[in-house]
Amino acid sequence: MKFIDLDTQYQLIKHNVNNRIQAVLESGQFVMGHEITELEQRLAKWVGVKHCIAVANGSDALLIAMLAIDLQPGDEIITSAFSFIAVAEMAVLYGIKPVLVDVDPETYNLKPSAITAAITPKTKAIIPVSLYGQCADFDEINHIAKQYQLPVIEDAAQSIGATYKGKQSASLTTIATTSFFPSKPLGCYGDGGACFTQDDKLALKMQQIRNHGQAERYQHVRLGMNSRLDTIQAAVLLTKLEIFAEEIKKRQQIAANYNSKLKHHVKIPIVKDYNTSVYAQYTIQVEQRSKIYEALNTLKIPTAIHYPVAIHKQPYFRTLVRAVGEITYAERLAEKVLSLPMHPYLEEADIEKICTALIRNLQ
Ligand SMILES: *Cc1c(COP(=O)(O)O)cnc(C)c1O
Repeated sequence: MKFIDLDTQYQLIKHNVNNRIQAVLESGQFVMGHEITELEQRLAKWVGVKHCIAVANGSDALLIAMLAIDLQPGDEIITSAFSFIAVAEMAVLYGIKPVLVDVDPETYNLKPSAITAAITPKTKAIIPVSLYGQCADFDEINHIAKQYQLPVIEDAAQSIGATYKGKQSASLTTIATTSFFPSKPLGCYGDGGACFTQDDKLALKMQQIRNHGQAERYQHVRLGMNSRLDTIQAAVLLTKLEIFAEEIKKRQQIAANYNSKLKHHVKIPIVKDYNTSVYAQYTIQVEQRSKIYEALNTLKIPTAIHYPVAIHKQPYFRTLVRAVGEITYAERLAEKVLSLPMHPYLEEADIEKICTALIRNLQ
């Protein structure tokens, strides 16, 4: 059994993906080939925004977004204390201070009511992460951001394809970013990422930033980096986009199946009624996590912990971030979360096996 089964997916799309890759090999346009533009147009349409800028990975996408809204060293951004490290990491890399607040105990996303207390004159952006596949509460977050005239960047690395009040994730904020790392809901065969925006000026800036800040060749009009997406990865993503909607449905069916088997035994994921989730992870809460992890591991059932340490407790980051208010839930979740195998091709027999083993080991 696999935690994420990319092989079954590959067997399904093999013919198309091989042909698409072959076409790139024959074109010789390995960087910024026409597949990049095609992918950007398709993704922008899927998400429902004007601009998509394909970049090298989801972490770069965050840094590019931060540079595009003119963040400066010494500025502060507000994000959640319980997440993957990328937002805090990219901020610190540019001398920006991550200010961390607690998460909502149901969605595990940035708690809107915790934002105001964290705002200072140095605050220049709010960067919520839409964790495990469901969006943060963007109406609430955008409302606060508007009061303080702050841009909002959604880290949609795990939520691309999800909806919030009928709108697509990555269409809800000033800029959104995503990752196409192979294990993400929409993954390529290497590293990849993208930025999304409705704003023409921000889009142009991000196009320049990903290509050494060039307005035209060797005209460097701003600080940039090399963060172009490989054409071969765009070809892979174009193929995978064709089955993405179907795969999301399957993920949701598998989550519903897990839910019905586990709801009386463990804390299952809560998806708000105004949200749909793409279940980047199917994450439950358990007591005695290490015991359960080991027991399942012995049965060759792979599980994972997203994430075992809150950001303000991370060895490198604890002195570089500021945690504001009570961080109760973020710390508690770090001790209790456990992600079960989740991918569109997970079979009933495996789900049954996972749930039976899990329930047996709860006692
Ligand atoms: C995966 C991930 C990223 C980083 O994406 P990479 O493509 O691996 O750089 C950023 N944020 C979140 C929430 C992620 O899950």
